[in-house]
Order: sequence, then structure tokens, then C-alpha cells
Amino acid sequence: MAGELQIKMFPCLSDNYGFLIHDPKSGETAAIDTPDAAEYLRQADAAGWTITQIWNTHHHADHAGGNLAIKRATGCTVTAPRADAHRIAGIDRGVAEGDEVELGGVKAVVRETPGHTTGHIVYWLPLENTAFVGDTLFALGCGRLFEGTPAQMWASLSKLLELPDDTTVYCAHEYTQANARFALTVDPDNPDLRARADAIDAARAKGEPTVPTTMALERATNPFLRPGAAGIRETLDLRDAEDVAVFAEVRRRKDAF
Ligand code: ZN
Ligand code: FE
Repeated sequence: MAGELQIKMFPCLSDNYGFLIHDPKSGETAAIDTPDAAEYLRQADAAGWTITQIWNTHHHADHAGGNLAIKRATGCTVTAPRADAHRIAGIDRGVAEGDEVELGGVKAVVRETPGHTTGHIVYWLPLENTAFVGDTLFALGCGRLFEGTPAQMWASLSKLLELPDDTTVYCAHEYTQANARFALTVDPDNPDLRARADAIDAARAKGEPTVPTTMALERATNPFLRPGAAGIRETLDLRDAEDVAVFAEVRRRKDAF
């Protein structure tokens, strides 16, 4: 049944977001990644929920570091990318492209999105119009290429571009204000981006999160999703390049920004 999932988002560590998702019908609760076990357990407790599952996106410590402590405290199961089975603690089920993961009656589809890490996956909940994208896609940004190539990351982001405009996108870090400053350097004449940058500054000044975002908003303003945009190509002096080459140059500039 669509729209019944309850989602609790909270800041943890220095700039991560934690997510708990709860299916009221079955009473099941999943932790999306585990940056901080104590904070996850506290947040679940405050909501009156018990964590029954962990869904990991990738192996980094700020995403899987709390697995064992939460598993020990709750007896929950751990679902994580099969490709990372050797480097994520506590895995019960390794998943890959197209696999379905269930939280009570709520279904998520696994999409493999290598680039930030080779094993990175995202969880797409089609009936909820929701995606948990870890460190693959950020509001106005994308993950650094620690283990993958620009071509891999561009293929992964292209998969996310297939998601409907009204998909609510939960990314794992509050990086948006810095991302906006960079985005304006490569896409300075994009009116949607300028308006969004102002809205982001206003939200952050009030201490408000800029996550979640939507696919529509990212499609219109995120330079990492817009290598075909004439304005970006003009700025980079890459008018006739392949999309992947434009993406790679945007990523290279961001790394040096
Ligand atoms: Zn990461
Ligand atoms: Fe991270």
C-alpha cells in the first residue's frame, strides 16, 4: 500500500543524516545505514519503534559503522550490497541489481550505483515515490569517486535519472550549501539554480535541512545531472563533448573547488 511508510530523518555525526523507516501495519522498522548506533537506537526508542532491519548503501564507516552495535541491541537483520560482503559487518543478505527488499508490505528495489564505491547501491521504493541514495547523489552534488571511474558514476546517475520527477530523494549528507556555491560556477546562468541557491541559504540560516530533495529539482539544477545543458557546456568550453566527458570535467572541477 502506497504512502503508509513513516520516515524519520535526523542529523548525526558531523554532517550525516540518519533515516528510520517504519511500516505501521507490520510494525517493522528499517535503519537506512548506521552512521551512529547510539543515536539510531535513541531515535527509534523516542518514536516507539524497534529496529528490525538494517539496509546499507555502502561500506564506509559513516554508513555501516553502527551495524554490529544495532544488531546486538535489537537482533535485527542486515541487508547490504553483495559486492561489499567482505567489508560490511553483520551481513545476513547480500543484494544486487534488481533485488527486492521488503519491510512488512513495503517493497524496495535495489539499484547498483558504483562510482563513490564499487559496491554502492540505492534503495528505490516505487510505491512510496521515495529513494534512499546514500552517497551517490546529493542535493546539487554527487559522491566523490573514491573507487569508481567517471564513466561508472555517470552510468549510475543516469539510472537515477530514470526515476520519476516526483520521487523524494533522501541523500546521506548535508552538503547542499557548499554544493550550491560550486554549481553556480559551472551553471551561472541557470535561473532555477540561482533561485534554489537563495532558498538554500535561507534554509541553512534558519538551521533547516535541505534534504530530502526531488528528482525534478535535481534534474533542473544539479550540474552533475546536466552534462547536456548548453550553459554548462559553454562554461566548460566542451560544446561538442560526450555527456560522460562533461560530467567528468564537472566532477574534476568540484574536487579542486
Ligand atoms: Zn561514503
Ligand atoms: Fe558518507
